[in-house]
Amino acid sequence: MTGPAGSCHCGAIRLHLPHVPNEVTRCNCTLCTKLGTRWAYFRPGSVAIEGGPIDGYVRADAVKPSLTTHRCARCGSVTHWSAIGDHDRMGVNMNLFDPDLVDALPVRTCDGRAWPVDGP
Ligand SMILES: [Zn+2]
Repeated sequence: MTGPAGSCHCGAIRLHLPHVPNEVTRCNCTLCTKLGTRWAYFRPGSVAIEGGPIDGYVRADAVKPSLTTHRCARCGSVTHWSAIGDHDRMGVNMNLFDPDLVDALPVRTCDGRAWPVDGP
């Protein structure tokens, strides 16, 4: 891994990225708003995730949920999301990384609140 490394608040979970992302995404859907996340997207398997334990949450209000959000079971920091089923994308919460690096990245906004609750 040549990209940046980050960790949850307590340090139990560490993530290593393959590279610095080109941008971060702020989504206004009800879940991302409550989580307070800034996402960057990578191919599953290209991000090294070490440590644990990790909890998962699948939207309880979704008829056909498309992803699981994961968080540190100890400190509650949201670490990443993974797709349910076959998908070439996962999301990493960039708030776990150096703020000087992340705050300098362009922010893309995503109108997730406008999506149907059972997925984009
Ligand atoms: Zn933690």
